[in-house]
Amino acid sequence: MSKLSIRDLPLKGQRVFLRVDFNVPLDDSGAITDETRIRASLPTLRYALERGARLILASHLGRPKGRPDPRMSLRPVAQRLGELLGRPVAFAADCVGPEAEQAGAALSDGAAVLLENLRFHPEEEKNDAEFARRLAALADVYVNDAFGSAHRAHASTEGITHWLRPCAAGLLMEKELEYLGKAVENPARPYVAIVGGAKVSDKIDLLRNLLKLADTVLVGGAMAYTFLKAQGIEVGRSRVEEDKLNLANELLRSAAEQNKALCLPVDHVVADRFDASASPEIVKGAAIPAGRLGLDIGPATRSRYAQEIARAQTVVWNGPMGVFEMPPFAEGTLAIARAVAASPALSIVGGGDSVAAVNQAGVADRITHVSTGGGASLEFLSGMKLPGVEALTDRP
Ligand code: AMP
Repeated sequence: MSKLSIRDLPLKGQRVFLRVDFNVPLDDSGAITDETRIRASLPTLRYALERGARLILASHLGRPKGRPDPRMSLRPVAQRLGELLGRPVAFAADCVGPEAEQAGAALSDGAAVLLENLRFHPEEEKNDAEFARRLAALADVYVNDAFGSAHRAHASTEGITHWLRPCAAGLLMEKELEYLGKAVENPARPYVAIVGGAKVSDKIDLLRNLLKLADTVLVGGAMAYTFLKAQGIEVGRSRVEEDKLNLANELLRSAAEQNKALCLPVDHVVADRFDASASPEIVKGAAIPAGRLGLDIGPATRSRYAQEIARAQTVVWNGPMGVFEMPPFAEGTLAIARAVAASPALSIVGGGDSVAAVNQAGVADRITHVSTGGGASLEFLSGMKLPGVEALTDRP
């Protein structure tokens, strides 16, 4: 990795501003309903605390619109984090100002305080320089472990780095960059990319970049119907982006010119309406009859895609193959999850739905790397530079 890591920093007695991703879902009573993100930060926290760092933890939670909202307070997270770490984690009711300053100054070696939600201040998302300076004033060094927020240039991910040096990656950030880096630099071949989801328009950059990097791109989800229609194939009432037909043709041409395989479904699971109680029917062949909607890839497509995945040395997957939230249309996505897990390839899964699918299929532990950052992994694989990563100090 070209960026400094927390492993390169002296930590004893240092006040470390550690940007984490504690953007966890809370229910109406303020209880945490999924603590995956808190657990994902534990290796970095334990590493720093064991070495005597004084940790000032900062995160956003939800979208509080730039003002304090008790429903999006991080206080319950401080409590839960303390239980997971087996040592109390203090809480400061504001992320800047006297409360935060006193809490930071009161830390002893190996102790941590969690600051209140950064987004209670509108300056965070505006990347306001003065706000960034006030955050920086709390600490001696900066570590970013919030890969899921690295695609945004906010005060706590980018602005702060102008006021505090050195700036290093935490262990989770480092792991994300290491594995995602393998998918964009010198990947082992054959390289198979699987792209699904609702819209071609959301994933144009991803498709373009993966067509450059990978040998084979397998397409599923609603976006496949835009590609099929662009080729003059009947798709019934399936979801199509009419204004992206030219783009779809351009991508198909570009694949052919680069001698890459862009594979589309050869059969489908369809229904007469977009509803979990609709009866699924299998349609053989690429065309979908009038009046029917394609809602999942069919069995022949599943096995064809699984064969490609089994032969791969590198696999990258982003986006579901169908409306997997509805059980009758989930099989295609689950079959891909199992195929990716069974493949000997280095496998990387990113994006909320695909990650949910590998968890639902019970195969997450057989995936080489399950990314914690949906939007950030999408941008990284699309070949974009992430401002929160670029801002970190280069390794000498
Ligand atoms: P994305 O956020 O672009 O990855 O898209 C994910 C969404 O695409 C999920 O909510 C899926 O239900 C939806 N989706 C996948 N396949 C289809 C389809 N055939 N028709 C309609 N929506 C779909």
